[in-house]
Amino acid sequence: MQITIVGAGVSGLSTGIRLLEQGHGVKIIAKEFSPNTVSDVAAAWWYPFLVEPVKKTNKWSSETFYELIRLKEEENVECITLRLGREYLKEECDLPGWSSEIPHFRILKQSEVATGYNYGWEIEAPVIEMNHYMPWLLSKFKQLGGTYEFGEFSTLEEVPGEIIVNCCGLGGRELCGDNELRPVRGQVIYIKQDPGFGRFDQQPETLTYTIPRRDITVLGGTAQKDDWGEDVRIEDTEYILSKCEELWPELDRGNIVDTAVGLRPSRYEVRLEEEIINGKMIIHNYGHGGAGVTLSWGCADEVVKIIKINMQIS
Ligand SMILES: Cc1cc2nc3c(=O)[nH]c(=O)nc-3n(C[C@H](O)[C@H](O)[C@H](O)COP(=O)(O)OP(=O)(O)OC[C@H]3O[C@@H](n4cnc5c(N)ncnc54)[C@H](O)[C@@H]3O)c2cc1C
Repeated sequence: MQITIVGAGVSGLSTGIRLLEQGHGVKIIAKEFSPNTVSDVAAAWWYPFLVEPVKKTNKWSSETFYELIRLKEEENVECITLRLGREYLKEECDLPGWSSEIPHFRILKQSEVATGYNYGWEIEAPVIEMNHYMPWLLSKFKQLGGTYEFGEFSTLEEVPGEIIVNCCGLGGRELCGDNELRPVRGQVIYIKQDPGFGRFDQQPETLTYTIPRRDITVLGGTAQKDDWGEDVRIEDTEYILSKCEELWPELDRGNIVDTAVGLRPSRYEVRLEEEIINGKMIIHNYGHGGAGVTLSWGCADEVVKIIKINMQIS
């Protein structure tokens, strides 16, 4: 089958790789490639955050967890590292469904909980350095025989190919007229300092994180709904720093090296389903909110399954 993927973010590239591995011909057409996609701005810690439906996203995220570890261990993808991170909560709550799926998950002792919080857990999970990972995905895609070009579509009817996979992120608002898709603005700060372990408060209202990569740490964040602003805001930088300093008092502002902004493609749930338009099969794979990297391989495998089932039927 000749398959066209719209979009070259983490969803489009991961799906492209999986489809090539299944023997399909794949071309990616996108308005922007790395380093100019939202995926390039992802922090990116494996953590199902701001994304629904939970039953499916738990499955897709745990599949992605193990694929990221396999890539690190078997394909020597060095920009994936395994790091410890602690999530702090104001009060005790039910454990997330994915907690039993990963090898290291433990409840923090009271003495380990940060000041101002009452509960928390520690996990060991992949940190993905998107500045290296996005180019790696594209080179893997090319190495498997995938082709790509720049292009922008106003409707899905214009897209060439026997099957279309739609990985357009926030672009789905216009491309599919999907008003359920909304931006959730995120600003981050890069600092040349390592906190030892990641520190998190992932409640959208108080969102705070420190995600250590090999060379820098990503500090966040903001989760501003319906905010299309792509410029860095000084007041947000101050807001992020003051929150991070509470979880990481040793943070030294003199080590800051850069800042960035991205718009998360948020939807009440990920849209991963097929649709027939003018007799052609379209598979939508967008609306991953704050967890597009965390879900990437699980969703790519789901697209492969849908295509397989449809090819068996026809
Ligand atoms: C600050 C921040 C921190 C984040 N941290 C994390 C994290 O720690 N962990 C995690 O898992 N996720 C994180 N995310 C979320 C993650 O970045 C997104 O969920 C993910 O990048 C979405 O990927 P995507 O490929 O679906 O979309 P995108 O990366 O936005 O790619 C969409 C692609 O479609 C193309 N396109 C759009 N419209 C059209 C059109 N009409 N015609 C042609 N091409 C089109 C675009 O040019 C682009 O190539 C974070 C996001 C932000 C902003």
